[in-house]
Amino acid sequence: MQSVRSKDTTPELVIRRLAFALGYRFRLHRRDLPGSPDIVFVKQRKAILVNGCFWHGHDCQRGSRQPKTNLAYWGPKIERNRERDHSTLASLAAAGWSVLVVWECELKDRDRLASSLTTFLEN
Ligand SMILES: [Zn+2]
Repeated sequence: MQSVRSKDTTPELVIRRLAFALGYRFRLHRRDLPGSPDIVFVKQRKAILVNGCFWHGHDCQRGSRQPKTNLAYWGPKIERNRERDHSTLASLAAAGWSVLVVWECELKDRDRLASSLTTFLEN
């Protein structure tokens, strides 16, 4: 089992490559920021959080699938992740950061991901 926010997970790598290809330079896992965002664009004061659908309880097919075993364990754990995500977003916003949350399931459509990344970073 992977930890909730392990470093260099594949979805994160996908986004890093995309952002790099689009010409953006960034920092990773800034521990001094709330939630230590995965990808941080310091100059633009923008951050990207990459969330696994299951772990963070996304409102998609994968995210709403109930764990087959240990529901009593995973249920509250996912709920805690969601609460933490919520307060992370609030703290970052309060500190003047714009945040884009990219869900694992959104990585399938690379063109769409590239355009939402561009929209986020250009505006
Ligand atoms: Zn999802």
